[in-house]
Amino acid sequence: MCEKCRLENSALPPRSTRRAVLGFAAASAVGLALGRTAGAKDAKPPPKPQNVLSPDAALERLRQGNQRYVEGVSKRHDFRHEREALAGGQNPYAGILSCADSRIAPEYAFDSGRGDLFVCRVAGNFANAESVASLEYAVAILGTPLILVLGHESCGAVDATIKSLKDGTTLPGHLPSLVAAIEPAVKAVSREPGNLLDNATRQNVIDNVAKLKSATPILSAAVEQRKLKVVGGIYRLRDGRVDMIV
Ligand SMILES: [Zn+2]
Repeated sequence: MCEKCRLENSALPPRSTRRAVLGFAAASAVGLALGRTAGAKDAKPPPKPQNVLSPDAALERLRQGNQRYVEGVSKRHDFRHEREALAGGQNPYAGILSCADSRIAPEYAFDSGRGDLFVCRVAGNFANAESVASLEYAVAILGTPLILVLGHESCGAVDATIKSLKDGTTLPGHLPSLVAAIEPAVKAVSREPGNLLDNATRQNVIDNVAKLKSATPILSAAVEQRKLKVVGGIYRLRDGRVDMIV
């Protein structure tokens, strides 16, 4: 860590204070389960002090990063200078539940560096047990104040689900597990006017925001205590803009 970072870190409240504010015992339980002693971790300052944000400030930072990306004025990220701090830990300011689609790339879309975003990706951007557990780790252990469920236009997973349900066909391999996860959103909007793929994509984001908000005991408690916001957005393929929808 450079001397400037060391000075900035020393001006911040100790990690133990933040954890006390976080205030739910489950965090300690998760920490112990993951083999990390709370005391050792709490003694360390956050690797990226600029990532210690309120949920609203984190959302604003995502918005500004996306604006730079849309306008083609992304920052130059000097990864060399942040490696040392990140070797000792991480404190991402946002968790992203994104589709696996190669065109999305959350770190680019929000003009972020390493250690900024805790990204879980699966085709169809739905929350399963593993992604909920991953985001619980981000919130309870890393102090992440914001989760964004990020859907996108022309999602192949949602489109495949629509076609599978419409045709009554069973997709090969493990693909039916994606269909099962996305099916509720497709069925919920099947009688609505407009484009079914767009409507189902939107509903899938809304449903998974609700699922994460109510995921007991860790995420739901953090939301209740206003330490965490869970929001949803749609990535527009043509211009890269993320429209927040919930
Ligand atoms: Zn997709």
